[in-house]
Amino acid sequence: MIKANDPSLQSWIEVPVNSDFPIQNLPFGIARSHGAVSIIGNTVISLAGLQELNYFSAIKLPKSIFASDSLNGFIELGKPTWRTLRDRLSELFRKDNAELRDNEEAKKKCLVNISEVTMLLPVKIGDYTDFYSSKEHASNVGSMFRDPKNALLPNWLHLPVAYHGRASSVIVSGQNFHRPKGQMAPPNTETPVFGSTKALDIELETAFIIGKSTELGTSVSTKDAEDHIFGMVLFNDWSARDIQRWEYVPLGPFLAKNFASTISPWIVTLDALEPFRVQAPKQEPAVLPYLEHAQGNTAVDIKLEVYLQPDKTEALKICASNYKYMYWTMDQQLAHHTVNGCNINVGDMMASGTISGPTPDSFGSLLEITWGGANPIKFPNGTERKYLQDGDTVIIKGYAQNDKVRIGFGEAKAMVLPAT
Ligand code: MN
Repeated sequence: MIKANDPSLQSWIEVPVNSDFPIQNLPFGIARSHGAVSIIGNTVISLAGLQELNYFSAIKLPKSIFASDSLNGFIELGKPTWRTLRDRLSELFRKDNAELRDNEEAKKKCLVNISEVTMLLPVKIGDYTDFYSSKEHASNVGSMFRDPKNALLPNWLHLPVAYHGRASSVIVSGQNFHRPKGQMAPPNTETPVFGSTKALDIELETAFIIGKSTELGTSVSTKDAEDHIFGMVLFNDWSARDIQRWEYVPLGPFLAKNFASTISPWIVTLDALEPFRVQAPKQEPAVLPYLEHAQGNTAVDIKLEVYLQPDKTEALKICASNYKYMYWTMDQQLAHHTVNGCNINVGDMMASGTISGPTPDSFGSLLEITWGGANPIKFPNGTERKYLQDGDTVIIKGYAQNDKVRIGFGEAKAMVLPAT
């Protein structure tokens, strides 16, 4: 077992009940004017501060590696270093360890309440790819847009379908964005009009962050895939359905999706998620050999929730899904992405695709929840929504939980501002 995952550990830092960040989590992020940080409960931990005070002297680390505006440099050091660092943090913040606990001056320098901190994008994202790996989602969309009898296109069960997204417009939770404008064709016409989208949607997703680069011309096997993954974040792939419907043939989504994608600020390591591994859904027909899984529990049980909050209205939970429903796993996505020799770089982001479950209350987009607008979402005060309106806030939450520990992601939250 990974030492830092021991469910019996307790910290001398107070952890509120149902906190996403017990001592067993220790995710990584970047905070404005603090650089690389971790968190326990509501207490943000300055890694640069701890390094400066020699609390990491037993670990081989470049000088000032944490005094940075991205985690890329730290991630480049490799999995053994992430694991050792996380184990060291676990040791340092254990209830019975007085090293830092009883050093008031060091604590003042290295610990700060989350309310006093602004979280930034955790990594410099070179490339961002978005998969389409939920069978339920692909079937729902295929049923609505094409034919319920042939909801999945012929390739879908044989490869994890994806498109190349846009890294420049990935934004961190808390940053709001403007309603996008573009071309769309009104129903039953083939002549486009220009304007702001009238069908702004969400996509409930997670993303994994590449932790080890590869050379052009080489591939990553499913067996080695997880050596190349640093951790995961929550991901909202905002989508303008009317723009998408007009533009997506034949090369896939473009302006309908690249105006903004919101991520949660804390990268939860695959190590921290280890206790929540579960078997992935059975794949039928059998996949080609390069996509076969090398190990057993390749999926992760992560509970996912979406809340919609119109201006001046209570937030309403509109979806409860789970990452474990995904037909294609991270290992398969990465093996497929690189099988042609495409290289990957530390900090690259690979999003899962909309994560819909089997029942309507687990659908991961408004398109599916309202079934193309046929069943609007109704709020207790009478407000209704088919798609997002200006002033609406969407919050994605996610956590893995068993009877001993809860490993959470925090949230990915943003508000829709009027078109400019
Ligand atoms: Mn998507």
